[in-house]
Amino acid sequence: MEKKLIDESRKYIMNTYNRFPIVLRKGRGMKVWSSDGKEYLDFVGGIAVNCLGHCHPKVVISLQKQAQRLLHVSNLYHIEPQIKLARLLIERSCADKAFFCNSGAEANEAAIKLVRKYAKDHGVSDKYEIITTHGSFHGRTLAALSASGQEKFQKGFEPLVPGFKHVPFNDIEALVKSITRHTCAVMLEPIQGEIGIKMPSEGYLKKVRKVCDDYNLLLILDEVQTGMGRTGKFFAYEHFDIEPDIITLAKGLGGGVAIGAMLAKEAVAQSFQPGTHASTFGGNPLACTAAITTIETLLEDGFILDNCNRMGKYLLKNLEKLKKDYPSVIAEIRGIGLMVGMELTKPCANIVTLVAEKGVLINCTSGNVLRFTPPLIVTEKEIDHLIEVLEDVFGGP
Ligand SMILES: *Cc1c(COP(=O)(O)O)cnc(C)c1O
Repeated sequence: MEKKLIDESRKYIMNTYNRFPIVLRKGRGMKVWSSDGKEYLDFVGGIAVNCLGHCHPKVVISLQKQAQRLLHVSNLYHIEPQIKLARLLIERSCADKAFFCNSGAEANEAAIKLVRKYAKDHGVSDKYEIITTHGSFHGRTLAALSASGQEKFQKGFEPLVPGFKHVPFNDIEALVKSITRHTCAVMLEPIQGEIGIKMPSEGYLKKVRKVCDDYNLLLILDEVQTGMGRTGKFFAYEHFDIEPDIITLAKGLGGGVAIGAMLAKEAVAQSFQPGTHASTFGGNPLACTAAITTIETLLEDGFILDNCNRMGKYLLKNLEKLKKDYPSVIAEIRGIGLMVGMELTKPCANIVTLVAEKGVLINCTSGNVLRFTPPLIVTEKEIDHLIEVLEDVFGGP
C-alpha cells in the first residue's frame, strides 16, 4: 500500500526533494501518522510551519467556517480577514503596513522590489544594490535565490539577478566596506536558519541597524523562519533591541496554511501603489483566517510563547548533555527558543533515517546539522523521548 503510493509519487512528482520513504496522512498536535498507520513524533513541524501543532482545533474550525462563507475574491475589493490580519500584525510589530502573498520567497521578492522602488522614488535612479550575507537563505524564486548567499542553490540557474552583494555574517566591517553609492538596503535573517541555525554575535544586529541609519540604507529582516514565536518572542528582532524597516514572514504565519507577508514602515510602504506590485491569491480569505486564528491562539495568554522559551532551554540543556557523552560525534549546539541546531562532525542524513525508524522525525540541514523546529506546544516528556532516541542512535552500532 505505502510502497505503491511511493512508486506513484516518484513517477508523477518532480524529483526536487530527497523524500524519506514515508507517506504522511494525518496529524494531531505533535504527532503524525503514515498511510500504513505508523506513528511519529514530529520535531520537524513542517520546518517551522506547524507552530501550533498539526490540525490545531481552533485553526481547523475557523477554516471550516470561512470555507462556507467565502473562499476567494479579488484584491480589487476589501477583504475582511485580510484587514483583521493586517491589524493584528501591525499592532504587534514596529511596521505600519502589510502586503500579503503566498510564501517566503514571494515575501522576499516583494521586499526586494520595494527597496529598489523606494530608492528610485527618492530620486536616486542608480541605487539598487542589496547587501546580504554568506550562508543566508531567502527562497527559490530567481531574485530571492540571487539574494541567498549559498552558491550550491544558485548553480545552473545563471545568469542570476544582478544587484546583490554577499558579505560574511557577523562581520560588520565587511558590511561597511561593501557599501557603495549604489547600495539601497541590507537584507538579513536575524538568525540564519537553513545554513544550520547560526546565531548573530553579540551586538551585531544593533551595529547593522546603526550602519543602515548612518548610510541611509533600509534594513530588511527575513523572519520567514524566525517569526511567529519560533525564537520565544513573536518576532526575533525583539531580542536584539532594533527595529527593521521591512519584515518578511511566511512559514508559521498560517499555522500550516500557505501565506506570506511583508510588513513595512509607512514611509517605505508608500512606494507600493496600484500597479506596482500584486498577487492574485495574496491575502485571500481562507489563508488570512488561518493566520488570524494562529496569531490569536499563539498570543492568547502568553502560554505558548512561554512554553517555547522553557522547552527551548530544556532541549538545549539536554542536547548539551548528549554532547558531553558523544564529543566525537557532536560538534556544537546552537539556537534560541525552538529553533535549535546540533552540528555533527559527520553528515547527518543517515542519523535522520535511523531516528525516523524509531518513530521520531527530525531534519538534517546544510549536510551535517540536525535541526529541531517542533511545534511550540512540545512538552518535556516529548523532548525526553527525542533525547532517548538520539542516545540510542548515537550509542548504537
Ligand atoms: C523557508 C525560508 C524562505 C523561503 O520560504 P518559501 O515559503 O519556501 O518560499 C525564505 N527565507 C527563510 C529565512 C526561510 O527559512
